Amino acid sequence: MAVKTNRFTILVAALLLSSLAAIAQQQSLEPSASRLQQHISYLASDALDGRRTGTPGANDAARYVAGEFSRAGLKPGDGKVARKPRAIIASYLQTFPYVGRVELGKNNALTLSNGEAISNLRPGDDWMPLGISANQKLVLTEIVSVGYGITANELNHNDYKGTYSKNQVAVIRTGTPDGDNPHGRFTTAGQLRFKVAAAQSAGVGALLIISNEDDLKNEPLARLRYDNAGLAAIPVVVISKPAAEKLALAKEVTLTTDVVRAEVPAYNVVGVLEGSDPVLKNEYIVIGAHYDHLGRGGDGSLAPRAGEIHHGADDNASGTAGLIELARIFGAQRPKLKRSLVFIAFGGEEEGLLGSNYYVNHPLVPIDKTIAMINMDMIGRMKDSKLMIGGVGTATEWRQLIGQSDFTLALSEDGYGPSDHSSFYIKRIPVLFFFTGTHTDYHKPSDTFDKINYNDEARVLSMVARIVRDVDAADKRLTYMTAKSEPPRTGGFRVYLGTIPNYADTTDGLLLDGVRDDSPAAKAGLKAGDRVVKIGNHDIKNVYDYTQALGEMKAGQEYVIEVVRGTERLTLKITPEARK
Ligand SMILES: [Zn+2]
Repeated sequence: MAVKTNRFTILVAALLLSSLAAIAQQQSLEPSASRLQQHISYLASDALDGRRTGTPGANDAARYVAGEFSRAGLKPGDGKVARKPRAIIASYLQTFPYVGRVELGKNNALTLSNGEAISNLRPGDDWMPLGISANQKLVLTEIVSVGYGITANELNHNDYKGTYSKNQVAVIRTGTPDGDNPHGRFTTAGQLRFKVAAAQSAGVGALLIISNEDDLKNEPLARLRYDNAGLAAIPVVVISKPAAEKLALAKEVTLTTDVVRAEVPAYNVVGVLEGSDPVLKNEYIVIGAHYDHLGRGGDGSLAPRAGEIHHGADDNASGTAGLIELARIFGAQRPKLKRSLVFIAFGGEEEGLLGSNYYVNHPLVPIDKTIAMINMDMIGRMKDSKLMIGGVGTATEWRQLIGQSDFTLALSEDGYGPSDHSSFYIKRIPVLFFFTGTHTDYHKPSDTFDKINYNDEARVLSMVARIVRDVDAADKRLTYMTAKSEPPRTGGFRVYLGTIPNYADTTDGLLLDGVRDDSPAAKAGLKAGDRVVKIGNHDIKNVYDYTQALGEMKAGQEYVIEVVRGTERLTLKITPEARK
């Protein structure tokens, strides 16, 4: 059926439509809970298989974000204009190097000779190259024992005395002279990376670490781990205790190391929204969130068994959806902000801020013109309106810009932290870190989209958008300052309890969101919802008291721990384990 029209009705209809469009546009400038739900339910779905960096699931997530950036009108980070859909998506992706798989090659050999007899040690059983080991073939004519293999000039400690040569293999012990003391002087210098660096600068040809284990299967160094932090320049191998006894009698060592490290593509997703001011558009505000997660478990997982999909709805599909939503809102806003906005979805966060670290060293807009970085990591599980904001000590203006809000804010000064803002703070860029707190589903398969508090996440995003607008409204850029560093996270300690503290809770005692299965905390009888009020003779009022107490604990020693559970006060006993 045809409809009869005249010019007047067309005009009226056109006016009506344009005002409707204007209204729609106005409304769309608010963060939308239903859009967030749409993004998170996809990103955290089984289809993406937990988004472990380097896997097809993570790459699908990256392409999804790129598609949304394109739709929001962002320009690709690389500045190139592509036409074909595939090329358009690819232009938003910044590739960074990533080792996805480490395997033992076919050519590993370690032969000991004492002039007469020769013994071949078996890789896997008697010895193993480390995941970071260089691949080389060496004849080492001298074996030198150098204690723990630690060089720490600031402590006046040097296990490498004298001069060394490439013909030598340095043989060292695991650990440090301080044993298990978490406040030991050697916590840094005693780390594997520093021991490798010490051996390299001493000038030996290879580093051989004697395990405390009879069976290499129990030796963590023998697990072919690779942390994507760079290779050693020399072969680094670990040898079982029984094999080390044979080594003690040897005069010459022939060593061939062969570790296969397969690089796979990994991506940051970068989109730029150019500012409207001819001068200030050359300054950039970065808004970021990591999109990767833990895949099916492994390192970083708190699940009782490996193999299940870790959905990562809160960690960090929530931040990624927030990033997409902010890109849409700022892309639609007229007039545009004066300054340019750079939206970045980072990969490789869970394995140690790999993507953001790569970005700050290979920035797509000038780092010295990057005036602020705002990070969102786990913003989907707000409870009782509690919101944590980190980094408020990194610019003199932050506290004032944050101002009043409807949330119960827990502000912290520090610019360092366990997420991507840390990489920017290292480059002396003011940062803010938004976080709604941890929970019992943290790093478990059960971090699913149905548990997200979408309405409150939308409220958090409104606040982020408001702060971005206020940063942009000022004529002067933010004034960077060095923030007070707070006590190290519990993760930095050498003892392990297996508690999951609620960092957002600031009331008396330390509230536990959960305890890790089969951990010292679980064995002690601690439960989610318990409030820890005393450990040993430390009164625990907050997470800092707790961190302090944890720092003084020794593995294997029993401590009294007092908790409040409902109306009861319980006295339990806990024995921390050494962190591996
Ligand atoms: Zn995480």
